[in-house]
Formats: sequence, structure tokens, C-alpha cells
Amino acid sequence: MNFDVEETRKDFPILKRKIQGNNLIYLDNAASAQKPNEVLDRIKEFESNDYANIHRGLHTLSVLSTSAYEESRIILKDFLNAEFSDEIIFTMGGTDSINLVAYSYAEQNLNSNDEIIITTMEHHANIVPWHFLRERKGIKIKWIDCDENGNISLDDFESNISSKTKFISITQMSNVLGSTPDIKALTDLAHSHNIPVLVDGCQGVVHEKTDVQELDCDFYVFSGHKTYGPTGVGVLYAKKKYLEKMRPWRGGGDMIKHVHKDEITYADYPNKFEAGTPNITGVIGLGTAINYFKRKISQGLFDYERDIAHYLHSQIEEVKDIVIYGKDNLYSPLVTFNAKGTHPHDLSTIIDNYGIAVRAGQHCCGPLMDHLGINSSTRASIAMYTNKKDIDNFIIALEKSILLFK
Ligand code: PMP
Repeated sequence: MNFDVEETRKDFPILKRKIQGNNLIYLDNAASAQKPNEVLDRIKEFESNDYANIHRGLHTLSVLSTSAYEESRIILKDFLNAEFSDEIIFTMGGTDSINLVAYSYAEQNLNSNDEIIITTMEHHANIVPWHFLRERKGIKIKWIDCDENGNISLDDFESNISSKTKFISITQMSNVLGSTPDIKALTDLAHSHNIPVLVDGCQGVVHEKTDVQELDCDFYVFSGHKTYGPTGVGVLYAKKKYLEKMRPWRGGGDMIKHVHKDEITYADYPNKFEAGTPNITGVIGLGTAINYFKRKISQGLFDYERDIAHYLHSQIEEVKDIVIYGKDNLYSPLVTFNAKGTHPHDLSTIIDNYGIAVRAGQHCCGPLMDHLGINSSTRASIAMYTNKKDIDNFIIALEKSILLFK
């Protein structure tokens, strides 16, 4: 184990940036992470030397672009330990991946009065597509409430499952409470009732080893921009048996076999689900990001993150007048809190004066905010480049900022 945070920091040029005259301390990683030089260089190099549209050209650049794009698919297959590389679909992000499943799988397989189970701590990306389905098809959404630390009970799932339950969708890690449900126990339970499970890995994949075969989830999604890659690109993993039967939800070039005036036939998956010109550079940049990330993981990144997360939690607990949400999750890479007598928007704006980026608001978790009885909160979240000094400076800035409201 030789993960070295100071060496790692040198890979991220944005960390040299000054904000309001101070060195940037970036603690908004749960919203989006920064990119290392390796990814930035690869994007520039690809666009400067090898760029062309993929799949449909026979000229040199198109062949080079296609093979770089398809190489990313293999990198992602290995990263998630999918069984086959064509179980990896490239999308525009985690949100797009869930919408794809809602339209291409759920739309066809669920009927009015069928039920979907989700939890109260889901991100809107894992709520709104199911509301759309409720509006379109009259399905029912059943909610499993978490406790104040984001724990959910399997018994609650079990007692809510009925013959009408046709789908379960759940986060691997709450982006507010930092809790991590036992996904394997849930997929075992769901499969014993023949119910497929989608796992929203947007936060989880960044901080814990993820093996889709071990989790035995049916669908798994995440976004490139949280895993040190580009924006506008995401991943959907789905078991072959679903992809074979799912209808495409976006129509256009590249996803068809034949188009005639009165008939169309679709390409095989994964192309069937990647209509039009995809985010070619984004996909290639994501492959580079994942290779970089994998190297850091093999050096002991996740152990380092647990230590620094624990340090963050232990320090913020000492700050006066702070209410922490999910406070038992002492090793979670994010901490969400309110400071008595302050509004999160004011607090985060003042903290920004110290060069520190944190996030304030609902964190796209309306039902969870209702459940916690709050309107908004502030969230600080770490990444591979967060060091102890960042945490110390954040705590000093936080204490000074709270004092301004006294
Ligand atoms: N799920 C979770 C848990 C998230 O944190 C996010 C991003 N905030 C998303 C889904 C949606 O990801 P994106 O905005 O990249 O599509």
C-alpha cells in the first residue's frame, strides 16, 4: 500500500488555483470531481491527433477513434467486473442511464398497478424517472424510509414486496447521509421473488470496490464526472438477458441494422442503446480516468479515504452548534450538516471567501429533506486529493464563518 496524497495532488492542475486569493480547497467532490493531467492530456491528444466519428468510417482516423472508444468499453467491463464488454452501454451520465432503464426496460415490462420500490434517500435521478413511469403507466411507487443515519431495513423491503412488485431501485451510497445499504442482501431477497434490482452507483463507485457480479445487481449506473473523468458521459451495466429483450429508447443513426420506408430493424446491443454520435471524447477520457483511478485504488486509495473521512467527521463533530446528518457514518466520504442560526447558502458563500468549495441546498434529495425535516443543508465531500491540511483549513473557516452569525 503506497498511496501518496501529496504525489496525487500534483496530478490535478486545478489544485494550484487561487480562489478569492486563497489556495483552492475543493470539498464538492460528491457533486463532481476534478480531473488529473492524464485525462486532460488524453482528451487534448485524442482531439488533436486521432479524432473522427466512430463506427461508420473506413478511413484511418475513424478506425483509430472507433478502437479507442471500444477500448474504453473493455476498460469499464474490467473495472466493474462485468461478464461481457457488450453489457456496458455508454450514456450521457448516471441520470441518463436510469432514464434508459425506465424507458427501455420498465416501460415495457410494468403495467398499471405494478409496483416499484425505492428508498427515501434516493437522488432525484433515481426518483423522477419512476414518477414519469407512474404518470405514463399508472404504476405505484412504494417508499422504504431510512433512519436518521440512512440505514434501511431488509425486513421493510420484505414486508413491502408483493406479487405486484416488479422493480427495485436503490442507491449504493446516499449522497447526503453517506450510508451504504447492503446491496447483496437486497439482490438476494429481490431475486428470491424474481424482482430485478437497479443500483445507482454514482457515489458508491467512487469510494468502494464495485463488482457487479458479486453484487448480482441487474442494472448498475454511474457518471463519468464523479470518477475523475469528463462530464456528459456515463455508464449503464445491464445483464445480457435484459439487454437482449430491451427496446431502444432513442432512435437515430448507429442503433439500427436496416431502415426502410415501412420497416426498421435494430442493431445488436450495445449499439442499439447508443443512438447518434455519442460523446466520443468523453468515453475515451472516461477510459483514461478509470485506468488512473484503478491505479490509485491498487495503491490503497480507499483505505486512505477512510482515514481522511474519519478525520473530517471527528473534526467537524467538535465544532460548536453543528447538527450532522448521518452522524454515525464516521467513515463516509461526505459530511452533511447545518450550523444553528445560519442558512446553508449564506454559510457556503462565506466559506468560499476562504477558497473552500462546499455545496449547499437540497442535494437533489427532496423526499429525504422532508424525511429529515429540513429544507437544505451544507455538504463537504472528499476525493483522492483531499489531505489533512484541507480539513484543518475547512474547520477553521467553518468556525470563523459561524461566528459571523452570532
Ligand atoms: N445519483 C446520485 C446518488 C448522485 O449523487 C448523482 C449526482 N449528484 C446522480 C445520481 C446523478 O448523476 P448525474 O447528475 O451525473 O447524472
